[in-house]
Amino acid sequence: MKYISPLFSISHKKVKFFSVATIIFCGVFIVYSISSGLEKTVATSTKMTVKPALASKPKKPKPFHMVSLTFDDGTEEVYQNAIPILNAAHLKSTQYIITNYLDGHDPNFMDASQVQTLYHQGHEIASHTQSHQDLTSMSMERVDTELQGSKKDLENLGIPVVDFAYPGGLYNQPVEAAVQRAGYESGRKLENGLPLKGGNPMEMPAIIVTSDIPVTKILDLCVWAQNNGRWLVLVFHRVTPAPELDLTGKHLSITTGELKSIVNLLISHKMNVVTIQQGLATESKLLQ
Ligand SMILES: [Zn+2]
Repeated sequence: MKYISPLFSISHKKVKFFSVATIIFCGVFIVYSISSGLEKTVATSTKMTVKPALASKPKKPKPFHMVSLTFDDGTEEVYQNAIPILNAAHLKSTQYIITNYLDGHDPNFMDASQVQTLYHQGHEIASHTQSHQDLTSMSMERVDTELQGSKKDLENLGIPVVDFAYPGGLYNQPVEAAVQRAGYESGRKLENGLPLKGGNPMEMPAIIVTSDIPVTKILDLCVWAQNNGRWLVLVFHRVTPAPELDLTGKHLSITTGELKSIVNLLISHKMNVVTIQQGLATESKLLQ
C-alpha cells in the first residue's frame, strides 16, 4: 500500500466493509427511488430537456375515407380491358350487370360464366335491370319485373345481389320505392357528387369518369376524400385501348392507360378501395 496516497490507504478489511456498505446503500437508494416515485421525476426532467421541435407530437388520425370503382352495363370490354388491371392491383370493383345479356347471345356483353368468374374473384355483382330501359317511363308492374327479375337472374347463378344502379341514371320516387321493394339496399345515380354520410342510399351520387376528366382531377378528389373522410364513388362505362368520341365530340370511355394511372394513384395514395356493399356496411357501422 506504499504507493497509494494516504487517502486510499485503507486496509483490505476496510475496502471490503466499504464495498458491502456501498452495495447496501445503493440497494436501499434504488428501493427508495422506486418507492418515492423518483423514476417519474427522472422521466419528467428528461422530457423537459427535449427540445419542443424534437418532441413527438401525437399524430392526428386521418378521417375514414373510401373509394368505390363501379362499372355499368357489364360489357365485354370491361371484362377484357378493365378487370385484368384491377385484378393485378388486387382492387375489387362493383359491376352493375344488365341480366338479359347473361345468355351470351350478344358478344358485346359478359355472359353468365364471366359474371360468375368476377364474383369468385371478389368483385361485387349488382343489378342494372334486365333490359336497361328508362324505369321512369314504364308501368310499375314492368318496373317490378325489371328490378325483381334481374335480382333473381343473378341469384340463380349463386350470386347474392344487394345493390342497384338506375339505367341512364333515371329515377323518380315511385321507382325508388320499387327498388327498395325488390330488396335492394342502394340505388346509384349518374349525377356527379359524393354520397353523404347518413344520406339516402337510394339516391347515391357518383363521379362519372371518362377521358374528359383528367387523371389529376381524380387525384384531387381522392386527396380531398382522404382528408375529409368522404366516400368517393367513381363510375366507369367503356374502357378501350384507344380514346373514343361520341357524335358530340365528347369521350365515351376511358383508355386502359388512363385506368392504369387511376389505379396507380389509388395504390400510391393508399386509398381505401371498397365495393358498394362494403362501403354501405362500413358506413352503417360508423354511423352507429
Ligand atoms: Zn347503363
